[in-house]
Amino acid sequence: MKIGFDIDDTLISLREYAFHHYNKILEKNVSIEQFNSLPTLYIHEPFGLSSEEGKNLWLTNAEHIFFTSCPPYEGVVDLLHKLVHNGHEIYYITSRSKEYCQKTYDWMKLNNFPIEQGRFFCGMEDHEKVDIIESLSLDYYFDDKPAVIETLTESKTKIYVKDQSYNKHLAVPRINDWQELKNIIKI
Ligand SMILES: [Mg+2]
Repeated sequence: MKIGFDIDDTLISLREYAFHHYNKILEKNVSIEQFNSLPTLYIHEPFGLSSEEGKNLWLTNAEHIFFTSCPPYEGVVDLLHKLVHNGHEIYYITSRSKEYCQKTYDWMKLNNFPIEQGRFFCGMEDHEKVDIIESLSLDYYFDDKPAVIETLTESKTKIYVKDQSYNKHLAVPRINDWQELKNIIKI
């Protein structure tokens, strides 16, 4: 099988990592409950920031958020290795901006994700992911972002959404915990 994955908030807990970082650098104490009930991808609001301030804060901290110790979701790295071991092809499709692509590839490798050149796609817009997914003829694709999932409703690829507070409205099969992957694909 050819299986594609988004990275941020699909395989790694990026927003929550950024949330803890914001609490620290802004000396705030926003609760995890507030974070977990956010209806949007953006996390600036409970910190009392405007969208412009939130955007600037994200950009100035992006290197830290992306390339330090953001944790993968529990068990997911092992599952990916098992998939590769059993002959499946793993693809990563991330819309992180082009300037971060090489460092993202290196970070994934350093953090033990099974990754290889030619199976890592980066730097596209959200709406361009669909073209890559189609051209690769993926059997499965996993993402968290409504703007991406909504472009894939006609796709032959089986689409799953990684459950997050901001995507509850999507009527698409859902992964709550990565161990559920074993019920979907023979690993
Ligand atoms: Mg994502």
